[in-house]
Amino acid sequence: MPMAAAPGDANHPTVDLAASICVDDARVRTRRGRPYSCSVTADADQPIARAPLVQDVPCPLCKYNLRGLVESRCPECGAKFEWDELLDPAKRKHPYLFEHHPERNIRSFLLTFLHGYFPRRFWRRLSPVQAPRVGRLIAYWLIVVLVCLTAALVDYAIDFYGTWQAQLYQRSQTALYLKGTTDKDTLDAIKQWGSAQRYIDSLCPPPTFKLIYDQTPFPWSDLPVAALARGNVFASSARYISIVLIFWPWYAALYLMLLRASMRRAAIQPWHHLRVAIYSADIVIWLAIFQIAMSTLRHLANQPASWRAIWQIEDLGYDLMPVLPWVILLAITYRFRMAIRRYLGVPHSTAVAISAQLIMLLLMFEIISLFT
Ligand SMILES: [Zn+2]
Repeated sequence: MPMAAAPGDANHPTVDLAASICVDDARVRTRRGRPYSCSVTADADQPIARAPLVQDVPCPLCKYNLRGLVESRCPECGAKFEWDELLDPAKRKHPYLFEHHPERNIRSFLLTFLHGYFPRRFWRRLSPVQAPRVGRLIAYWLIVVLVCLTAALVDYAIDFYGTWQAQLYQRSQTALYLKGTTDKDTLDAIKQWGSAQRYIDSLCPPPTFKLIYDQTPFPWSDLPVAALARGNVFASSARYISIVLIFWPWYAALYLMLLRASMRRAAIQPWHHLRVAIYSADIVIWLAIFQIAMSTLRHLANQPASWRAIWQIEDLGYDLMPVLPWVILLAITYRFRMAIRRYLGVPHSTAVAISAQLIMLLLMFEIISLFT
């Protein structure tokens, strides 16, 4: 039946959520221009109309009570919603998001990661109404961190193994030399040590975990001395950027919070900021994948029977190394801009995203100059 009854009419149909909306005869159109018709009406084919909301509905972003509003726009934070997504519990669960699907962790992680490559669609589909699950959101970030940490460990492990092999090789070469030597001083030294083997051990001890551990530098051990002033700042800052980008979501969330506070806008729940930042920056994983590939190539290139092609690919990798973190930084900026615009409704999103990155770079250079 047509829902043309005036608010308060005794004949007004009260069906589920329809009870929460009083209707008049105006036709409501949604943000995307579709006529508003959804499960909240008694008869879905009939247009329902705008009328004040008569139940308590908190704004998903800032928790302001939207009761009594005609337009589905939060007067506190300015966010725009559609009534059906606010009122229909079925719309509160995202179809594949990692946060909302603990029953299929790997699948939901991969889907979230892959859909992020289409930020326009990703952020159109993800609504603040689909409440952030803080624990799982942070878990998503921790998985990204774990992948990056694994890359550093693989890098270290390959260096460790290489140093171990080099030590063994040096021992075998020393043994070969001593076998055929006629040098008087060397022969005297062997006599002093009692045997050639003892002499070799003194020159080049057999590899032990401690010995190799002491000889192998950690991937980040040269960071404090890799000063920016030396040579090309663009190239030398790339390594710092790749580390900074891992922790970037927390900086970006804080930046958004401070920005809103400075604009004296309503406080949006901080987890929405973090959500926007974490999903924008998960592509930092590509730096880790690149690092693992480079470590593997380096290992292969050091093998005695290495192919020429491997050296060439390795060279190409070294050329890319200083550029890649900057490319990822640019991509994150673009994704961040899309996210704050579509999800948070931040005005001047391009300027906000670029200024966030510039301030981050300035802070980074400032901190580096303190330590180097
Ligand atoms: Zn709000």
